[in-house]
Amino acid sequence: MDNERSVVCKFGGTSMADVESVGRVEKIVKSDPARKYIVVSAPGKCNGGAKVTDLLIQCFEEIKNGGNCDRTFPSVAARYRDIYDCLGSDILDKTLFSVKDAMEKSGQYDFCVSRGEYLSAYFFALKTGFGFVDAAELLRFDKYDGFNAAETDKICKKRLRETGYIVIPGFYGSDENGNIVIFSRGGSDITGSLVAAAVKADIYENWTDVDGILNADPRIVQSPEIISSMTYGELREMSYLGAAVMHPDALVPLIKTRTPLAVRNTFRPETEGTLITSCLKERSETGSGVTGIVGKKGFSVLFVHKTGMNAQKNVVRKILSVLEYYGIGFEHMPSSIDAVNFLIPKENVSEEVKAALVDEIKKSVRPDDIRMVDNFAIVSIVGRNMRSRLGVAGRMCTALAKAGVNIRMLIQGLREINIIAGVDERQYETAVRALYDEFLAEKRRIKRGFRYL
Ligand code: ASP
Repeated sequence: MDNERSVVCKFGGTSMADVESVGRVEKIVKSDPARKYIVVSAPGKCNGGAKVTDLLIQCFEEIKNGGNCDRTFPSVAARYRDIYDCLGSDILDKTLFSVKDAMEKSGQYDFCVSRGEYLSAYFFALKTGFGFVDAAELLRFDKYDGFNAAETDKICKKRLRETGYIVIPGFYGSDENGNIVIFSRGGSDITGSLVAAAVKADIYENWTDVDGILNADPRIVQSPEIISSMTYGELREMSYLGAAVMHPDALVPLIKTRTPLAVRNTFRPETEGTLITSCLKERSETGSGVTGIVGKKGFSVLFVHKTGMNAQKNVVRKILSVLEYYGIGFEHMPSSIDAVNFLIPKENVSEEVKAALVDEIKKSVRPDDIRMVDNFAIVSIVGRNMRSRLGVAGRMCTALAKAGVNIRMLIQGLREINIIAGVDERQYETAVRALYDEFLAEKRRIKRGFRYL
């Protein structure tokens, strides 16, 4: 199989949710013989009903409290009966009964919750005539250290390279004793990338219910456009700021192995989606160089000022130790000669901890001024083509000024892949719109035949 093209496809919960969409998935899978490894999620929401994974969480609660899941499991079973009616009641009854029984006997949260993916993959394999390989055989977790990437890669390489046309459940694996262990929610994306990396796939197709990655937030900007191609660097900068379409941990194996990723829409397979690769040829000097506009509200800024900070070697280290002690992660750390600012997502720090933190830093650093400023937002222009292009920051600042937005912080690193402005939360939407109009709306004007600049 080594010389042939191979594609790993992952289909999310909405794609696996009902009989029509599963029919679409089968068509997509069979329309290209290179699609040899299929990873699936549990059925997602359908007709206002719950996701199967959420129903299974309820089943677990029932088992914990009463020893069985007689109340909720019938709703789980009904979802699969609807979708896979074509398999006949014998196989459905037998499989569903044995899964319920195993759940009740195990009483383990991870085992119960993982059964959505297990059943989805098992039945989809039967429907399509593909083989079934249980993720418990492929993905290895260590009892104490969590996910074991190296061991998983070894097992997947050995087990999958010589095979193909198989369906694998997403979201879970097992530890050395065979106990099922799940990833965090949305973890089937990770399974897909691990398989893609191990089999050296030509491409990892992540099939979902959107046309691709948008160049701005559609709740703020009217009809933003799908980005047709971008780099992993750009995706990382965009996804941590809220443009996420994939589980963030799913990117690591792909970046390491330089496996291209395509985000595609199961419901509109005729559209190309977004292609993400490790590097892309630089474009010509036309256009703004900006790929997307992203941002996030809900930051607190820890501001510490101490005259002479630059000459005292240990001030920042002491502040960092206090942050580490309280387990507080921050996302940016702009500084000046006598001051340093830490941008901390609101959810990382409670009011109580804020006060304790400030007290602790006062004691250890004796600053001239220390404050926690809330209701802060950041807006960012992202683009690999911004590098070495003159005037991008100038245009950004002018656009924000014209829109009446006060820039309270400005961050750009040597990579020149993004420029971030810190603004008051209440000016966030205005800032995003101003930057979109400045850098991306021009694409449309060019498309319509107007020259810009
Ligand atoms: N079914 C799980 C969830 O709902 C995992 C996944 O879909 O990736 O989060």
